[in-house]
Amino acid sequence: METLYRSTRGTGACVTASQAILKGLSDDGGLFVPTQIPTLDIPVEKLASMTYQEIAYEVMSRFLTDFTEEELKDCIDKAYDSKFDTEEIAPLAKADGAYYLELFHGATIAFKDMALSILPHLLTTSAKKNHVENEIVILTATSGDTGKAAMAGFADVPGTKIIVFYPKNGVSPIQEKQMVTQKGKNTYVVGITGNFDDAQTGVKKMFNDKEMAAELAKSGYQFSSANSINIGRLVPQIVYYVYAYAMLYKNGEIKEGEKINVTVPTGNFGNILAAFYAKNMGLPIEKLICASNENKVLYDFFTTGSYDRNRAFILTTSPSMDILISSNLERLIYRIAGDDAQKNRALMENLSKCGKYEITDSMKEQLKDFYGNYATEEETARVIKNLYQDTGYVIDTHTAVAACVYEKYKADTKDETKTVIASTASPFKFTRSVMNAIDQRYDAMGDFELVDELSKIANVKVPKAIEEIRTAPVLHDIVVDAEDMPTIVKKLLNA
Ligand SMILES: *Cc1c(COP(=O)(O)O)cnc(C)c1O
Repeated sequence: METLYRSTRGTGACVTASQAILKGLSDDGGLFVPTQIPTLDIPVEKLASMTYQEIAYEVMSRFLTDFTEEELKDCIDKAYDSKFDTEEIAPLAKADGAYYLELFHGATIAFKDMALSILPHLLTTSAKKNHVENEIVILTATSGDTGKAAMAGFADVPGTKIIVFYPKNGVSPIQEKQMVTQKGKNTYVVGITGNFDDAQTGVKKMFNDKEMAAELAKSGYQFSSANSINIGRLVPQIVYYVYAYAMLYKNGEIKEGEKINVTVPTGNFGNILAAFYAKNMGLPIEKLICASNENKVLYDFFTTGSYDRNRAFILTTSPSMDILISSNLERLIYRIAGDDAQKNRALMENLSKCGKYEITDSMKEQLKDFYGNYATEEETARVIKNLYQDTGYVIDTHTAVAACVYEKYKADTKDETKTVIASTASPFKFTRSVMNAIDQRYDAMGDFELVDELSKIANVKVPKAIEEIRTAPVLHDIVVDAEDMPTIVKKLLNA
């Protein structure tokens, strides 16, 4: 059956998967959602015998129905190859009774590689299918990881350029170094004097700027998005939840049909929404545990039904979750509003006008699958230290937020259902925070000294992504105010 997509704020008109991928955001400002979630009608026994790539094909082909088998398999093969440092692509590690799904074995050692290694191929295939002549310009706002992962995916992909905006003082030193050393003739990196939300708002404005689009079209360019609002980001993320379930079954950890919980360290709500879609495909997931850091907008939302971004923005040691507007939540809101675009639009208009909205009781009723909680900075550090001391396993700060919230969930509910924790970054990406959590005295060491020390205590080889930036030259040094984003884009494109 064909899967079509419509906007969460639109009139109900449908587009194909490839059109939704090309557009990123709908013209009316809404996000594309599948008109129905396809079911995964494959026995777990069979899934357990498949490779990551094979499962990726089974899941993605049900969503991207206008891609031919050959096209989709070609995209998958180009994405999930030796860029990953393990053939398993997303291995499961068991520690202290939980299952850590390691989503950080790609080019930039964070989970965004899972989707961003395939998005460029989905996008260029979509362009071909729709006879697009313009060069595609990817605009991305990043809180640290997306930017680098997107550039790694798009670098030197013909017919594309990529411009990444990041908060100049809102990412880790290693994240920044990774970005400003990015190679590739078609990659641009711009620092913003502001926070992630400023960068994201600036990008959204450019996407909605019809005049700018017309100007760029004259120069042969059109914008597209690599942010997690693109359905081409979301669909590949469903795959690893199915894969994790299949592996648990294969390893004898669960019986056929046994339910599991999933805990996800959440920022923009993309990763956990993918788990929600996996559940809706029929994967036996019981609870979706949404973990926030001290920017706990989502925790407040799940407990009160009120989403309110009017609060101080807190810089934490899990910067990729320092977000006050979780863009992908709109897809869930649309869903619990009964696929009612008018209702959703009204709420989103409230959000942009007053910074908040409140859902109705009947909408709240439908959030039973979710549990939300948050971890403070001290709790996050304590979890890293305790897990290391008890098991020798070292997790990064984002994953630690999830591990902490999972502990709180167990204490709250006494639920002992087997639980997968999405492990979203390698500890080597946030070395200083991780090492300081283990022992404050590490703070005296230099960045790369710390990397070597982490390698020693965790007994894990230093990832290639880190080795590479030790000596790499800085290739990008532009910094602008958020309001100058359109000007710099035109300048970089000579448009
Ligand atoms: C992006 C990111 C997150 C948050 O994922 P969302 O899909 O935005 O909710 C969590 N951890 C890390 C390391 C990330 O890079």
